[in-house]
Amino acid sequence: MNPDLRSFIDRVAKETPGDLLVVKDALDLRYEPTAYVDELAKRGRHPVFIFENLKEAKFSVVTNVLGSRKRYAFALGTTEDKIMTEWLSRSQRFIPPRIVKEAPIKDCVWKGAEVDLTSLPVLTHFRDDGGPYITSGIVVARDPDTGIRNASFHRCQVKNRDTLGISLHSRRHLWDYQRRAEAKGQNLEVAVIIGCHPLIHFGTGLWRGPIDVDEYDIAGSFLGEPLELISCETVDLHVPAQSEVIVEGEILAGVREDEGPFGEFTGYSSHNSTRHVLKVKAITHRRNAIFQDIVAGFSQEHNGMLAIPAEPRLMEVLAKVVPSVRDVSYPFSGTCRFHCYVSMKKVAEGQPKTAIFSAFAEDTSLKLVVVVDEDIDVHREEEVLWAVATRMQADRGVFVVPRCMGAMLDPSSDAGLTAKMGIDATLPLTGWKAKRCTVPEDARARVKDLIKY
Ligand code: MN
Repeated sequence: MNPDLRSFIDRVAKETPGDLLVVKDALDLRYEPTAYVDELAKRGRHPVFIFENLKEAKFSVVTNVLGSRKRYAFALGTTEDKIMTEWLSRSQRFIPPRIVKEAPIKDCVWKGAEVDLTSLPVLTHFRDDGGPYITSGIVVARDPDTGIRNASFHRCQVKNRDTLGISLHSRRHLWDYQRRAEAKGQNLEVAVIIGCHPLIHFGTGLWRGPIDVDEYDIAGSFLGEPLELISCETVDLHVPAQSEVIVEGEILAGVREDEGPFGEFTGYSSHNSTRHVLKVKAITHRRNAIFQDIVAGFSQEHNGMLAIPAEPRLMEVLAKVVPSVRDVSYPFSGTCRFHCYVSMKKVAEGQPKTAIFSAFAEDTSLKLVVVVDEDIDVHREEEVLWAVATRMQADRGVFVVPRCMGAMLDPSSDAGLTAKMGIDATLPLTGWKAKRCTVPEDARARVKDLIKY
């Protein structure tokens, strides 16, 4: 049996108990869980939260499952420093799924008039949000021409008992499917997966690749075994058998309705929406389902989901252009999309600029790329800024390229047009005199042995 969300939470509870917080207080679905996560984040704590007693909620709500780099490592069965290697090796195999006939996702089946989205414990995150939002939903659909499946995260706003507002503003594969289905006058059948093991999230919503790859094959690759699927009740699709909640329905052709605003990863309320409408035909769920939320806005969880998969993607590209690139980090402070730190062993002057141009070409959201030497840990922002402070002179180390394509969601951009800044904070290959203070390795090794906590 594939691992599921609850088995992951059980493992966290057993192996890293400090990483799980069960909240029994009676909280409102509106704002209070988000406030709770945010307050602890400000104090440097990023546990998995289980809200057991939300008012008017029939299920527990779990959120912040991917709220720390440590839990990516935990899910991948590795350490934080090896996430990138593990991610790359798991993204490159294809393990086809396998169909099962029975699964707990069919414990409860609501169809027709029984369908009621408003009875699900969907959180409202921010004051200016248009309403309650399903933020963990992986939307599965078939390419209307090839039948190949796509699975991707999309925000879904609960409008009423059987209607979701959905935005396809990333304009990627699902948007393309819907556009082609609509041109044929067809609704696009979809299933929304809510609540599954992180490895399934990694292989579907967090994986990016060509449109002709079936993302269930990649989910299998991340799991290391075939993803078990079960057929839907009302649409011609299959969904992971161990999911917590499934919403089945159709994105309507030729219908648009206002949706949003929604608190985005930038930390600002976004009115950007493609205004699609998803009509729900069935909801199935496990008995005592766990309803999964992803913390919206400028949060560790939301932004980590942008950053952590982007690092191996960019690393692959940079390593081809400048083989001596060592590491890549998308810091939280840069909304995990706009800033990027790269370390390298410079062997020729000018290489940092090559890396910077390659990064801007690969990831159009980037506004700032800082390149440092290999002795700097790019995951420790204070080290990167220390290198900028002590190894860089702005008249030679900084360059700006005006009016490039950037992120639409950046409120400081001019309708998506943005300036790109590159900073080369590497030491010159010759003529540098200052020596970095270091303690001898044997002293460090001895102390490391003594530190048991
Ligand atoms: Mn895709």
